[in-house]
Amino acid sequence: MLQAQKILKKYYGYETFRLGQEKIIKSILDGKDTFAIMPTGAGKSICFQIPSLLLDGLTLVISPLISLMKDQVDALNGNGIKATYINSSLTAIEVRERIENAKNGVYKLLYVAPERLESEGFCHLLKNLHISLVAVDEAHCVSQWGHDFRPSYGGIAPFVRTLSNRPIVAAFTATATKGVKEDIVSLLGFKSPNLYVTGFDRKNLSFSVIRGVNKEDFIYDYVKENKDEVGIIYAATRKEVENIYENLRKKGYAVGKYHAGLNSDERKKSQEDFIYDDIHIMVATNAFGMGIDKSNVRYVIHYNIPKNMEAYYQEAGRAGRDGDDSECVLLFSPQDVLLQKYLIEQNNLPEEREKNEYRKLQEMVDYCHTPKCLRKYILEYFGEEKVGDLCNNCSNCNDDSELMDVTIEAQKIFSCIYRMKEKYGTSLVAQVLRGSKNKKVLSFGFDGLSTYGIMKEYTEKEIKDMINIFIAEGYLHLTEGQYPIVKLGEKSVGVLKNKEKVLQKVHKKKEKVTTDNALFEVLRKLRKEISTREKVPPYIVFSDSTLRQMSEYYPIDEESMIRIKGIGEEKLKKYGREFLKTIGKYVKQKGIEKVKINIEESIQEIKDEKVASHVVTFNLYKEGKSLKEIALTREMTLFTIQNHMVRCATEGLAVDLDDFIPEEYESLIIQTIKSIGAEKLKPIKEALPKDVDYLAIKAVLCKYNQ
Ligand code: ADP
Repeated sequence: MLQAQKILKKYYGYETFRLGQEKIIKSILDGKDTFAIMPTGAGKSICFQIPSLLLDGLTLVISPLISLMKDQVDALNGNGIKATYINSSLTAIEVRERIENAKNGVYKLLYVAPERLESEGFCHLLKNLHISLVAVDEAHCVSQWGHDFRPSYGGIAPFVRTLSNRPIVAAFTATATKGVKEDIVSLLGFKSPNLYVTGFDRKNLSFSVIRGVNKEDFIYDYVKENKDEVGIIYAATRKEVENIYENLRKKGYAVGKYHAGLNSDERKKSQEDFIYDDIHIMVATNAFGMGIDKSNVRYVIHYNIPKNMEAYYQEAGRAGRDGDDSECVLLFSPQDVLLQKYLIEQNNLPEEREKNEYRKLQEMVDYCHTPKCLRKYILEYFGEEKVGDLCNNCSNCNDDSELMDVTIEAQKIFSCIYRMKEKYGTSLVAQVLRGSKNKKVLSFGFDGLSTYGIMKEYTEKEIKDMINIFIAEGYLHLTEGQYPIVKLGEKSVGVLKNKEKVLQKVHKKKEKVTTDNALFEVLRKLRKEISTREKVPPYIVFSDSTLRQMSEYYPIDEESMIRIKGIGEEKLKKYGREFLKTIGKYVKQKGIEKVKINIEESIQEIKDEKVASHVVTFNLYKEGKSLKEIALTREMTLFTIQNHMVRCATEGLAVDLDDFIPEEYESLIIQTIKSIGAEKLKPIKEALPKDVDYLAIKAVLCKYNQ
C-alpha cells in the first residue's frame, strides 16, 4: 500500500486517502472482486485509477456517459496518467487507432460506454488486450430499481465471461437501496466480492429546508450575497427554469439554463459554459448534472421538491466535490408535492413500482418537515446506523431563529390596513408604511394617513415578509383572485386593542458561504486563462480548494508548492511556474513576505487531508527509526518529520520530547522563550546558539505547555 500512497501523492497531489479508499484499493490489488458504495463526491474514481497503475495490463472502465468519460480522461491526462476513451464521438479509424495503442500498452485505462459491449466486433477487439481490471462506474445503472436504468449494463457480466483471463471486477455506485444492491451483486457476475459501504456523510455540505418564503425573493437575495460563487438551481419544470433564468439574466447575472426542451447544441453550449466558469449560475431541470464532475460548485438550491431522497442527495451532492464548505438548500412548498404526484401518475408504472415511488416521495416530504437533524435523516434513509443526533451544520441543528415580540410592528401594519379600508394588496400597504413617494401612493392621498411612513426603518420586502407571516398565522387574510387584497382577520382585533401580544420567529442574517480573498481571485483569473489556452475546464487545471490553499499558504517555491493539496508532480511541472510567478508578484506587491512565507511552519495546519500523515511518522518512530531515516523513507524533509513528532506529542501520543531537547540548552531555551514570548519561533531561534534547532524549541514549548 506504500506504493498506492506514493501514487496518490505523485499523480494526484493528495497526502492521505479518504475514508474507505485505502481498503477498496487494497481489495482490488489483492485480486478480489470489489463492490464499493460511496456517496457522490467521496472519491470513487481514485479507487480504480490507482490500482490500474499498479496492475499489469489495462483497466477497462465502463462508464455511462460520454461527457463523464471525457472529463475523467482529461483529468487523468492532466495528472500525467495515460488514459483514453472509446465512444460514439469517435470515427472508426480513431477507434482502431486507440485499440492498437491499447494493445501496445500505451494506456493504463480505457473508458468505454456499456453499449459498446453489445457489438461483437468490438468485444472481439477487446479480447486481444490484456485486461486485468474491469471497473464498472455508476453500477446502479444495471438495476431497473435504480434511477438511471441502462439495459446494456446487463451485457457486462457475459462479456467478462468471454475473456480467457478473467479480470478482477470492481463496481462503484452512490445508490445503496436494497433492491439496487442485490441487483448489482447478482447481475454483474461477481465472484464472492468484498463489499464496502463508506459513510454517506458529506461533512462539508450544509443542508437546509426553507418553508414559507417567497422563493423568487429568496433566490435573488441568495445569488446576490453569493455573487462570486458557482451554483446550480434545480427547478421541476422547463417553464420554471425559463422564468428563473430570464429574471436572473435581466438582473445581469452570468446565468445559463438547461432542460430537455433545448436542442442538443444549446444544451452542450450551456453545459460547457458552466464547466468553463463562463457562467456562474446554472438553472436546470434534473436533466442536468449526470456526468458533471465540476468540483467547485458552492451551492445547490432546489426550487421545488425532488421526487425522492436518492435524486435529492445525488443532485445536492454535486455541491462541494472538492471538499470545501458548500450549501444545499431546498425550498419547500406544498403545491410542488402535487406536481411530483402528477408526474408519478403519468409514468404508468406497474402497480408495485408506482406504490414504491409514492412511498419514496412521502419520505422526501417528511424530510422537509422533520424537526430532527437533516443530516441524520438523510444518513438513516441510506441505511446508516448509529448516526449522532446533531450535526450542527443543517437548518434544524442551527435553527438560530429567535422568538421576538413584534406586537408594535403588528399594530402598525394592522392599523394601516384598516386605514386603507382593507382594499389593497400587500405591496401597497408596505409602501405606505415605508413612506414611499410613488405615484399610486400619492394619488390615493395615502401620504395623509397617520400610518404613512411609520415603518421607515424596514425595507419594503421585510414588511411584506411580516405581512405574509401574519397571514399564515391567521391575523390577516388574503382574498382570492389575481390581485389579492389583504384584510384583517378576527385575531387581529385583540392585538389592535392592545390585549394580545404577537411573537414571531425571526432568523438571524446568514453569513456568506466564503470569505473574500484577493489572491484567490487573482489565481482564479490565471486558472481561467490557462483553461482557455489549453481547452480544459478550470477545475481540471486546479480545484478551488487547491487555489484556496495557495492563497492561504503563499507557496513561493516548488518545494512548498508540491505540498499544496491537489498538486502532484505533473501539475507542478505544467503550471507550477505560472502560479509561483503570480503568487510571488502578489506577495511582493502586498508586502506579505514576512507573514506566512514559510510553508514548513504552517504545513501542520493543512489539516484535513493530512490527518494521518503524522501518525504514519509516529509508527515508524515507534519501530525505532531515527527521524532522518523516516524522512528518507517517506521522501519528506526532516523539518516536516520533526513537526509530525511535535504534533504527535501535542496530541498525547507517546513521544519522548527529551529526545529532541539537548540537555545542556534546555534551561537557556526556557529563559529565551520567557523573555521573548512564544508567538514566533524565528526570533527565539535567532537569540539562541546555532546548534539549537527549531525542533528543540518546539519540543520545549510542547513539554512545558502540557
Ligand atoms: P465520485 O466519483 O465519488 O463522485 P470523484 O472521484 O469525482 O468522486 O472525486 C471527487 C473529488 O474528490 C475529486 O475532485 C477528487 O480529486 C477528490 N479526491 C478524491 N480522493 C481524494 C483524496 N484522497 N484526497 C483529496 N481529494 C480527493
